Amino acid sequence: MTRKVIITVAPTGSIPTRKDNPNLPITAEEIADETRRAYEAGASVVHLHARDPDTGKPTSDVEVFRRCLAAIREACPIITQVTTGGGATTLGLSPEERLMPVKELRPDSASLNAGSMNFGRSLFQNTPDVIELYAQRMKTLKVMPEFEVYDLSMIQNVDYWVRRAGILDPPYQFSLVLGVMGGIPPTFKNLLALQESLQTGDTWQVIGIGRHQIPMGVMGVLLGGNLRVGFEDNVYLSKGVLAKSNADLVEKAARIIRELGFAIASVDEARAILPLLNHG
Ligand code: ZN
Repeated sequence: MTRKVIITVAPTGSIPTRKDNPNLPITAEEIADETRRAYEAGASVVHLHARDPDTGKPTSDVEVFRRCLAAIREACPIITQVTTGGGATTLGLSPEERLMPVKELRPDSASLNAGSMNFGRSLFQNTPDVIELYAQRMKTLKVMPEFEVYDLSMIQNVDYWVRRAGILDPPYQFSLVLGVMGGIPPTFKNLLALQESLQTGDTWQVIGIGRHQIPMGVMGVLLGGNLRVGFEDNVYLSKGVLAKSNADLVEKAARIIRELGFAIASVDEARAILPLLNHG
C-alpha cells in the first residue's frame, strides 16, 4: 500500500518578521487563513505560535492563542499543535508559563523540547525536571507531546527521563530538527544517526532549517518519516524567491512526495498514524 506522508505546517513561529517575508501571518485571522490554505494544499497538522497583533512580537498570552485556535478550528479541521518552547528564549518565560496555553486550550498536541542547548546566541533551557513535568502534564491533559530533538543527546534524554521512567506509554512522536545554530548540522549522515536512535513504532518528522527544509524533509520521507514546512523554519520557496504563502511550501513538498510515489495523509489518516492521546 502506498505510504501516507504527514505534512505539518508551521506558519509563523517566533523568530521571523515581516522584514524577512512580508507575507508572514501575524493576527489570528491571518494565521487561520494561512492554515486553511496550507490544509487545502495537503497539510494535516498545524504547529502554532502566537503573535501580539499590534507589535507582531511573539506572545504567550493565552487569549491570543485562544483566538488563533478558534479561528483555525472554524477555518478547517486540521490537527492542532501548540508550542511550549517559543517563549523560552524570546520571552524568558518559566516552564509553567510556557505550559499555560496547553492547559487552557487542550490542543491535540504540544511541542516538548527534549534538552537544553544554545539556540543561536540564546540559552534554550529544558532541564530533566521540565521534560518530566511536561510529559506528566501532557499525559494528564491527553495532549500528545511531540519531542523536539535538536541533537542526538536529546533522544537519549527522552529515553532516560520519560520512556525508561514509564511516564508515558510508547510509541512517541518526534521532530528531528537539523540546522539550528547550536544544534545538529543538517547532513544526511546526521539525519540517519537520529533516525536510527528512535525506537520501533515511534513516529517522526524532519524539520530542516532554512534552505535545508525541503532536502532534509524529503530525506526523512525516504527514510520512513514525515516532514514539516512553513515560515517558522524557512521563508523562501527557492533560492532568492520568497514564498507568497505557507501553502506554496506545502504544495512544493506535496508535489515532490507524490513524484516519489508516496501519498499525502489526510487529517483522518494523520490522526490514525500519530500516537495522539485524545482518541475517542
Ligand atoms: Zn515552534
